[in-house]
This record gives sequence, C-alpha cells and structure tokens, in this order.
Amino acid sequence: MKITSLFEEKKPVLSFEIFPPKKESTLKNIEGTLDELSRLKPDFVSVTFGAGGTLANNATVQLAKKIKEQYKIEPLVHVTCLNYSKEEIDIVLKELKENSIENILALRGDRNPEMLPKDDFKYASDLIQYIKETSDFGLSGACYPEKHLESVSVADDLIHLKKKVDAGAKHLISQLFFDNDLFYSFYEKSQIVGINVPIEAGIIPVTNKKQIERMISMCGATLPSKFSKVLQKYEDNPEALMDAGIAYAVNQIVDLLAHDVAGIHIYTMNNPMIAKKICESIKNLI
Ligand code: FAD
Repeated sequence: MKITSLFEEKKPVLSFEIFPPKKESTLKNIEGTLDELSRLKPDFVSVTFGAGGTLANNATVQLAKKIKEQYKIEPLVHVTCLNYSKEEIDIVLKELKENSIENILALRGDRNPEMLPKDDFKYASDLIQYIKETSDFGLSGACYPEKHLESVSVADDLIHLKKKVDAGAKHLISQLFFDNDLFYSFYEKSQIVGINVPIEAGIIPVTNKKQIERMISMCGATLPSKFSKVLQKYEDNPEALMDAGIAYAVNQIVDLLAHDVAGIHIYTMNNPMIAKKICESIKNLI
C-alpha cells in the first residue's frame, strides 16, 4: 500500500520512526521493540538509513522486510543519496522491489566528513526525480519547520521544498520541533507557496538532556525556555525527566491534533515504552 493513500483514508495518521540495530546479529533483538510498537497499531513505521557504508543487503531493508512480512505494517524506508552513485541506488531499489516494499523517504543525507559525496545526486529532489523516472515507489520527503541548517533563509528552504514536491514527493515528514507555533507558521507558508501534500509533524519525546542537546546541535531546533527549565530541573533525575518529557510531547500532540494536523510521526528512539505511554494518553484523539 502506498503511504499517501493512508492520508486519503484516515486523519490523523500515526507513524513511528525506528532505526536498525548497529550489528546485523542484533536484528533479532529488535523483535521485542517491534512486538510492543506493533500493538500500538501505527499506520506505518519508517526505518532510518545510514548515510554511508555498504548498500547490498543492508540492515534498513532487512528491518523493513521484517516489519512488512512479520508484523504486517507498512514500512517507509529512508534512502539517502549524497554519497551514492545511480548504480548503488539501483541496488537498493532492486532489493526493495524484490521484498515488495513500496514506500521510500528520499533524503539527501547529512554531509559525512569521512566520505566524499558522489556526483549523481546533489539534493533529495534529484533522488526523488530519479526514482520517479525509473520505478513506481510511493515517495516522501523531509521538511524543516525551522528551516534546514544549511539554508540561508526560510524562504529559500521553502522554494527548495516546493521543488522536492514538484519532483514527486507526495508526503512530507517534519524535522523534530518543540514549539508548535513554529510548525504552524511553516505550514501556513508552505500552503502559500503551493505545497499541498500531507505534512506529518515529527515529535520526539525528550528523556535525556545530553542526547537532546546533541540532536539539537545537529538539526538546529529551538528549545523553548519553558522546556529548557524543565530539562535543567530534572536532568539528574531520569524518572522525573521521563515523566516531564512524555508530558511535554503529549501536550504538543494534543495541540497539533486540535489544529487538524495530517499526521503525527513519533521519533521512538527504539523505546516502545515511551511510545506506549504517549499513545495511551492520546488514544481517544487518534
Ligand atoms: P534536501 O532536501 O536536499 O535539502 C538539503 C539542503 O539543500 C537544504 O538546505 C535545502 O534548502 C537545500 N536545497 C535543496 N534543493 C536545492 C536546490 N535545488 N538548490 C539549492 N539548494 C537546495 N539522515 C540520514 O542520514 N538517514 C536518515 O534515515 C534520515 N532520516 C531523516 C528523516 C527525517 C524526517 C528528517 C527530517 C531528516 C532525516 N535525516 C536522515 C537527515 C537528513 O538527511 C538531513 O537533514 C540532510 O542534511 C538533508 O536532507 P534532505 O533530504 O532534507 O535534503
């Protein structure tokens, strides 16, 4: 099933992001996580993709295959392109096709100082265009409510996002954010420039101060002062920080649902217990 058709059938859509375990041998160990997450009945689960390394038989595709075959949930496979040639991308597309995987989140990928970018794909829109021309996968893209870190302005980023949609992305997932007003402002501007595909709001439940500080430094999301205060107060009390982080994420989601967002995408960090607590709090809203 194409992910885009989910948005025609249901509003709001609920989805989770997970990442493949680092070692291939631990793929089996992720079954506990998937057992728990599947009970929460997400509409689809997306699987992240390392921006380097070998592409054949890679852990992302193996995990997506497991999600589809064993758990009967639609997987959305992230594929990055900056460090790969067309021939290498063809290997992934072939493997996805062979495993009946229908949906791709097409990404540029972050720059990796240890890898020289290849010449075939400069931007995610190049990958989207290539996949659209060579196959029939459902295509999604990433978007940035506070603009992408490398963009000179929000306007510039929106122009590039429109190119991505014009190239064939039929659904967008947002970068994590903590201030819903920034998402609403971005959404309004996206409508003005003619981006009319469903945009899911990416929400991360914060349960570890250091981890979130590292992520924020990588993606540029703003931490509202009221939330910084909470993090400061509970940074040395993991149980309290977890309660506070989940409560903050639930508040964000309730507000987003009241604003009729097309979907909620939870960055689960492979922690089903946290996803479960959030889902329990919003079970009558979704
Ligand atoms: P692009 O859309 O190509 O944009 C990158 C930059 O180039 C932006 O500043 C944009 O404005 C600019 N740009 C785009 N088109 C043009 C153009 N035609 N001319 C000039 N400038 C242009 N990374 C991973 O490695 N693995 C993952 O699994 C992964 N999953 C992600 C999931 C989500 C939901 C999100 C939001 C991000 C994810 N990332 C992942 C991170 C992502 O790879 C980085 O944010 C990366 O730096 C940009 O990827 P992109 O696809 O948004 O790039």
